[in-house]
Amino acid sequence: MTVTTRFAPSPTGTLHVGNLRTALHNWMFAKANGGRFLLRIDDTDRARSEERHVESIRADLAWLGLVPDGEERQSARFDRYAARFADLVAAGRIYPAYETAQELELKRKVLLGRGLPPVYDRAALSLTDADRAKLEAEGIRPHWRFRLDHGAPLEWDDLIRGHQRFDPKTMSDPVIRRADGSWLYLFPSVVDDIDMGVTHVVRGEDHVSNTATQLQMFAALGAVPPAFAHEALLTGSEGKLSKRLGSLGVDHFRDAGIEPQALISLLARIGTSLSVEPHVDPAPLIAHFDFARFGRAPARFDETELAQLNARIIHQLGFDAVAARLPDGMTSGAWEAIRPNLATIAEAADWWQVVEGPIDPAELSGEDRAYLAQAAATAAAIDWSADPWHALTGALKEATGRKGKPLFLPLRLALTGRPHGPDMAALLPLIGRDRTLARLRG
Ligand code: GLU
Repeated sequence: MTVTTRFAPSPTGTLHVGNLRTALHNWMFAKANGGRFLLRIDDTDRARSEERHVESIRADLAWLGLVPDGEERQSARFDRYAARFADLVAAGRIYPAYETAQELELKRKVLLGRGLPPVYDRAALSLTDADRAKLEAEGIRPHWRFRLDHGAPLEWDDLIRGHQRFDPKTMSDPVIRRADGSWLYLFPSVVDDIDMGVTHVVRGEDHVSNTATQLQMFAALGAVPPAFAHEALLTGSEGKLSKRLGSLGVDHFRDAGIEPQALISLLARIGTSLSVEPHVDPAPLIAHFDFARFGRAPARFDETELAQLNARIIHQLGFDAVAARLPDGMTSGAWEAIRPNLATIAEAADWWQVVEGPIDPAELSGEDRAYLAQAAATAAAIDWSADPWHALTGALKEATGRKGKPLFLPLRLALTGRPHGPDMAALLPLIGRDRTLARLRG
């Protein structure tokens, strides 16, 4: 049996970082097991689903490098759901109910007022054929509920949460189809997971109680249920699920100069007992992926940690991987020289501008100006073919007696216009003799 996972977003908005994490784990688990990773567009809600969101979901997965092995779409499968629905109506596992939303709300309030759990009372199950005919003659269309089997405990061994058990008597028979014939997510998802051979459902722990009822739907449809892994939710660094986190998506990260590998390195490991490390290649992350390493406490997402990982990823990226995003003319030697100083790839253009000039002249004292004039004369005389920075500073140290900061800082300021930056030994050959002389002469 081929391991098959699916990422099943509803295209009602763009993916946020929590969704990206779920997608990543589905992909990693499939890859770790030589399996298939499906993208399933859960667009049963025709009013709220939009094509532009489907496109952005695809683009976001592509940016992360999570290439699906197949794409499915629920709106293309309504006939299939209707057929399986008819099977379960015939088997007495799905029944029509006629209460209005207001009536249901009232029932809930009464139960809660008595200190009882607000479980649906199954009044619709005691309607006779004549009662139903009368209601329908009045123009009332039923919605449909899945009848839970109260004799069968709902239990499974969750790959993350361990053994889970729910008492079906404490749960309402879930509504699976609305009066207008449209589908709620629960039932189509089960039909799909069966038809698409899904072996592992990896999703957020907000779905745990859905799983309990869905297990009986698998059984009612004659299928062995997949394994389930419900992950603890993502929280912000402040410790709770923030609005901000729910709005952070690929566009935000890309605009902030975050590389996909940084996001993958972080999302693969937060909330697990494995350490977060920068991985340019996801292979080692995949090789060590293990649900047993996932904790039950919320996973903390910290943008500062992401930015740090991003820098460490960039410091490992080779020229070929970034060349298309570098300014025209920037060479592999320049990339190597500048790379250790970058927090984002876009910053390479700033440093390339420093190399090529013009640069803003730095403020310097009269004493330092005299020193720089001397430096210009020295720079004109040294051998530029090997290591001009060490040749220049070595000669100046000897001639002036300066050392440390007074030796180096005026040179850096005059040559780059900035007090900090890449290693001057790497930068100076890029700036070259002519520009160096001109900048030192001021
Ligand atoms: N469309 C559901 C959601 O976005 C899918 C949940 C699942 O993975 O089964 O929550």
